[in-house]
Amino acid sequence: MMINEGAFRVLVVNLTEGRSEPVLFGSQSELIGGSGLAAGLFAAYGVMDAPADHSDQPLIFAIGPLTAYFPLMSKVVMGFKSPYNGQYGESHAGGRLGLAMRFAGYDALVIKGVAQTPSCLIVGSRSIGIRDVHYLWGLDVLATGKHLRRFSGKDSGHRSILRIGPAGERGVVFASINVDTYRHFGRLGGGAVMGAKRLKGIIVLGDGSVPLPEGKAYRDLYKTVYQEVTQTPAMKKYHDLGTLENMLPLNELNAVPWRNLQATHDENVSGITGERFAEELLLRKTACSGCPVGCIHVGLLREKFAEQNEYHYRQVSYDHEPVFAAGSMLGVTSAGGVLTLLEEMERRGLDVMSAGVALAWATEAFERNIVTDKETLVPLSFGDVEKYREAVRHLGMRTNDFYHFLGQGTLAAAAHYGGSDFACVLGQEMAGYATGEVFFVSQTYGFRHSHLDNAGYSYDQKADSKKSEDAVAFLIEEERRRVQLTCMVSCLFARNIYSEERLQECLSSVGLSSVAESLVANSTDVQAKRWQLKYRTGYKPGNISIPKRFSEVITWKGRVDREFMNAVATDYQNAVRKLSDTGQQLETS
Ligand code: SF4
Repeated sequence: MMINEGAFRVLVVNLTEGRSEPVLFGSQSELIGGSGLAAGLFAAYGVMDAPADHSDQPLIFAIGPLTAYFPLMSKVVMGFKSPYNGQYGESHAGGRLGLAMRFAGYDALVIKGVAQTPSCLIVGSRSIGIRDVHYLWGLDVLATGKHLRRFSGKDSGHRSILRIGPAGERGVVFASINVDTYRHFGRLGGGAVMGAKRLKGIIVLGDGSVPLPEGKAYRDLYKTVYQEVTQTPAMKKYHDLGTLENMLPLNELNAVPWRNLQATHDENVSGITGERFAEELLLRKTACSGCPVGCIHVGLLREKFAEQNEYHYRQVSYDHEPVFAAGSMLGVTSAGGVLTLLEEMERRGLDVMSAGVALAWATEAFERNIVTDKETLVPLSFGDVEKYREAVRHLGMRTNDFYHFLGQGTLAAAAHYGGSDFACVLGQEMAGYATGEVFFVSQTYGFRHSHLDNAGYSYDQKADSKKSEDAVAFLIEEERRRVQLTCMVSCLFARNIYSEERLQECLSSVGLSSVAESLVANSTDVQAKRWQLKYRTGYKPGNISIPKRFSEVITWKGRVDREFMNAVATDYQNAVRKLSDTGQQLETS
């Protein structure tokens, strides 16, 4: 079998009407898949000027042309209007979802409408159903997962289970969607969109079959890629200590945000390094479907419940970003303490990065008497795991006005109570790098406000140039390359495996030669299309600023150079505007 270039097979579900329809949409040679397909679908089905929780807004899940055919083509792009900022955005997750969609026979799902009662959507190759699960509303993510597993029977093939917790039900703008327990659509609040649709869960049954592409070219190339992934050092670090191997060197470099970014280095880092987790808590490693690397590190959390005089054991995944958010940012320096908080955030269905950074701001606000325990309900203190655990529950449940505001994002709470200067928000709550000016700009003004948009943190560490045009050229080109990968939809950890030429070879080997030929031009086009959607849904970079805390911080390069940061911010915004207006990148110098 060779894949036919042509339209995408998309399942459009209308929850209000309780019906669904498979449609053919767009063309692979124009939209490629993944990010391009999601953007094309949002342009067709999205309501640009309606809020994120409007019943007609679509929640879109898209896979790519190489999903299931090559290693690490394991991710799914979710396209949606974000309740965090009201703009079109993307979130990415792995787990089993990508392969489940491929085996269910769909390139994308578009979910519109609002279910009459809390529901679970079940999509398979032979059946589609919407089940009433009102009795699960209010349950946490882990309990919900246990119930949903019963729905799919034994012959479910590559089954994937998505679900939300109380935070998504209550509209916390950084509520996440849990995917197969250890992966997440974490950022920008997709969980609140599911909550607004009264969609407690989604199960995709990969119960169909897909023949592999024929021909020696495909088989040989697969073998080459597989060997590179498994038998060279290219992916080794992700399997060994995982991304948490960065914690120690970044701390040495003065590049880890500590205690609401009041410092970038701490002597007590040894309690939360990759090495410490591996020695004390690592239980096993697991992988997304279709990935031979297995970078998902799962720690064992053991806890004694005094009243029942018994121990509970739980498995919690960790990597650099969650450990920054529930560890260094909150001044928590024990691996067990970090896992305790991650597990609590997981249960409530919160994006751990936003939740940790929001609570770090709340702690500093508490220390400065901007808020008291009348608002926070618990006396917050850096390093106090038990108090944070209670606060996470309040945040997930939006217990009072304070947690209601905090559930609108850190800046919303700061706008109400004061303390915007020390809100560590770069478009959304910051990622775990304090590398310098280019990263601060790149997350603030990047398309997804994610450190993964364009690797600004890497530029800070590697480049000597202080010419803003060099930094901007790097960010724009790096974003285009990453768009290419997220059109496939590859794990971004494999970016050095899948060069542009390698991707073209892969596409040709499965029969998508014209997609391969137009890959460079079309990835630029998709890059521009995403920005156009962001502008059309209300993006106004002039309304965003970088809080004062980011100018005060000392990084490995010394004091932040505000002049350079402002120049990069201005030039980057101009470059993005031009890209959006013309579909062209700025000339690079
Ligand atoms: S490297 Fe990790 S995140 Fe990427 S596909 Fe493999 S298991 Fe998933």
